[in-house]
Amino acid sequence: MTTQTIEAILADITTLPVDAIVNAANSSLLGGGGVDGAIHRAAGPELLAECRRIAEKRRDLAGGPCPAGDAVISGAYKLPCKKIIHTVGPVWYGGSHNEPALLASCYRKSLLLAEEAGLHSIAFPGISTGVYGYPKELAAVVAMETVRETLKSAPGITKVVFVCFDQESFRLYNA
Ligand code: ADP
Repeated sequence: MTTQTIEAILADITTLPVDAIVNAANSSLLGGGGVDGAIHRAAGPELLAECRRIAEKRRDLAGGPCPAGDAVISGAYKLPCKKIIHTVGPVWYGGSHNEPALLASCYRKSLLLAEEAGLHSIAFPGISTGVYGYPKELAAVVAMETVRETLKSAPGITKVVFVCFDQESFRLYNA
């Protein structure tokens, strides 16, 4: 039996040489601010070109190219990782608008996409905890619980990294 590890680190996700990094994208898949902007800047314009092609293929889906809770995979271009998984977190509207289930779906689908692609290590940012306003502490609990549960059905994933961009998130994940 191979071991599966979960760890939290304080880092810029664009610098990590893991198999996959996860992007907190928006439903257009065409880039935005925060971690999405940082990933697109570091990966170079070919990433946007591929995202446009993915969005075009998925434009007729209910909810647009990538509705909240869904995930898609792309190349990583100039980044040191192998693949980028783009997932769209829920906007926080107070917590009674299905936010926890949608956030859990982001973590679950991203892990299952990585497993399907034969990837072994994956790094997540704090999906929805920036502009989308999901309280960091609540989001960390959903992230941790969902990853622990999903790893049981993703035996190929040996390492999950929660990438914290500020000390507060780092403390939360370690707690
Ligand atoms: P969302 O729209 O899903 O809230 P944001 O990009 O605004 O996405 O923020 C998501 C999280 O990513 C925030 O906690 C933010 O601090 C963090 N973040 C921003 N840039 C980076 C980066 N380069 N590496 C890792 N995390 C980042």
